[in-house]
Amino acid sequence: LLASDGALGVTIFEEMTTLAMQTGAINLGQGFPDEDGPEEIKAAARAAIAAGSNQYAPGKGIPQLRKAVSAHQSRFYGLDPDPDTEIIVTTGATEGIAASLLAFVGPGDEVLTFEPFYDSYGAIIGLSGATHVTAPLLAPGFLPDTAALEAAFTDRTKVVLLNNPHNPTGAVFPREVLQRVVDLARKHDAIIITDEVYEHLTFGVRHIPVATLPGATDRTVTISSAGKTFSFTGWKVGWLSGPEHLVAAIRTVKQFLTYSSGTPFQSAIATALALPDEFYEGISATLRKKRDILSEGLRAAGLDVFTPDGTYFVNVDTSPLGIRDSVDLARRLPGLVGVAAIPVPVFCHPEGAERTRSLLRFAFCKRDEVLEEAAARLATLR
Ligand code: PMP
Ligand code: GLN
Repeated sequence: LLASDGALGVTIFEEMTTLAMQTGAINLGQGFPDEDGPEEIKAAARAAIAAGSNQYAPGKGIPQLRKAVSAHQSRFYGLDPDPDTEIIVTTGATEGIAASLLAFVGPGDEVLTFEPFYDSYGAIIGLSGATHVTAPLLAPGFLPDTAALEAAFTDRTKVVLLNNPHNPTGAVFPREVLQRVVDLARKHDAIIITDEVYEHLTFGVRHIPVATLPGATDRTVTISSAGKTFSFTGWKVGWLSGPEHLVAAIRTVKQFLTYSSGTPFQSAIATALALPDEFYEGISATLRKKRDILSEGLRAAGLDVFTPDGTYFVNVDTSPLGIRDSVDLARRLPGLVGVAAIPVPVFCHPEGAERTRSLLRFAFCKRDEVLEEAAARLATLR
């Protein structure tokens, strides 16, 4: 049913990556780095395979990784989830999101997200049978409109699905915004599921995990993954943490989605999570430079640039060039100038799509010379 009404077609990422390959365009669409993560972590995966870590892992993940996740939450945020009962390993954050939603919502329930929203949210809410309600993020800062956020909560709001730092806008939400969400979730007795896969990719602002706010801890499930932090998006190692009664329900669903996740990669990511603070500072500094290279190029091309505080993504408004329809532009851009990007309206319902009609998202998680070449190509747009 979902597939036949067009809600679940080919994802925009697959469409644009295919188009980039067909046209030989630089792919600034799908967010994946063009350089792998640390050699020592690759060596740790090879060592795990050589040592025989090749059969099913325990359903909730290998103890070594659950302990490493707990230590990471403690080191960076002062949280202290119990590795045995309050953490599970998932096949990427994507499975964590799916298992959490399927555990908590069904027909008659409402799930609230900001809009624009990461594409898998809409699809999984649809699969669960729940209703997807949105509250808009407004340019240029992409913060929620307070009145609209309040109005979006109802007595059927079962889950608030947050994403911070936020894909596709690059917003990193300040404490007041997060606290407002927590207070509303408490008032309406909603569970908070928070997708924090870009937690370490912020530029000069600090990421605040919503679980650390007063009133949040006992109703929040925090999801993250290794793909972005360690530049191993293909390994699909994710994890989530939260209070035992919520995590137990999610684990029940996870058993029947994938049962367990890739054993040797879990072991390598346990090693990665223990990397020193300098590693974490380094990824953010490196990415910030890339953000600046691409933003400068986009500005020089005549586009209005919304400088992001986090994530892999920078958004532009194409209207200064007289282009109003970013979906149409994204389909033509690879052929036109040899660069692929993602139109923001695909992350929205119809009303939000209208509001974001001229916005286009570019990924800057690429080598500096690739970004410079993309900037040179985009300059021909003028
Ligand atoms: N959430 C957001 C906001 C993302 O941008 C992505 C893409 N990396 C994911 C989840 C999926 O993460 P994973 O590859 O770990 O499943
Ligand atoms: N999260 C990545 C992005 O937003 C893509 C992941 C995917 O291809 N599903 O670009």
